Amino acid sequence: MSVSGLSRSAPRRVGLLGGTFDPVHIGHLRGALEVADILALDELRVVPNARPPHRGQPRVSPEQRLAMVQLAVQGVSPFQVDGRELLRERPSWTIETLEAVRAELATDDQLFLLLGWDAFCGLPGWHRWSELLWHCHIIVLQRPDADSEPPDALRNLLAARAVSAPAALHGPAGQIAFVWQTPLAVSATQIRQLLASGKSVRYLVPDAVLAYIEAHGLYREPN
Ligand code: ATP
Repeated sequence: MSVSGLSRSAPRRVGLLGGTFDPVHIGHLRGALEVADILALDELRVVPNARPPHRGQPRVSPEQRLAMVQLAVQGVSPFQVDGRELLRERPSWTIETLEAVRAELATDDQLFLLLGWDAFCGLPGWHRWSELLWHCHIIVLQRPDADSEPPDALRNLLAARAVSAPAALHGPAGQIAFVWQTPLAVSATQIRQLLASGKSVRYLVPDAVLAYIEAHGLYREPN
């Protein structure tokens, strides 16, 4: 009980993982679960992205990608599904998603944006990218065998904001930490190709996702 008589809970730790999830697979899910464990997240929100128009006419609708993500994580803590980017009229910028999520949290709740190394290196091209750290910490997912140099535009940011390990992140937002992780050798591209050539993707996606793909005849046409 606090002085005011109201009980005050500890700050929540919320992670965001964006992706196309076309379809969601065990690489996404296992990787995300490991990161959630490392960061001791209370909640890991999977946020399917609207597909950029230049990727061509999708045969799988946003609703179907969202449904597969929901089936994949249903009842599995700390996963949640956040469909806000698919439900908008236009593709969302990450900064807008962060602002919206942050507005729903308490000021001292910690928000973590999970980004692969490649996405992280592309940050300087993102809309209002210098504001991202106002709202969240950034967790860079990096392969242990990677030998990559950040672009010049990120060197100063890393020098100012990177901490030695995820455990050293403090406060609601503003820092960068690396998580070293060996990805499973699975990609959505490989899964679409297998399905288009009539092959099985059993065990590459959760059974419920496989059942959904089969029931709706998804990904049968070549890319
Ligand atoms: P595609 O093959 O269509 O490009 P993808 O399988 O790489 O898709 P995305 O939806 O682009 O999947 O991935 C979303 C996020 O999931 C990425 O930022 C990446 O960090 C992570 N991810 C993708 N594949 C794996 C994997 N095999 N293991 C761990 N993380 C992964």
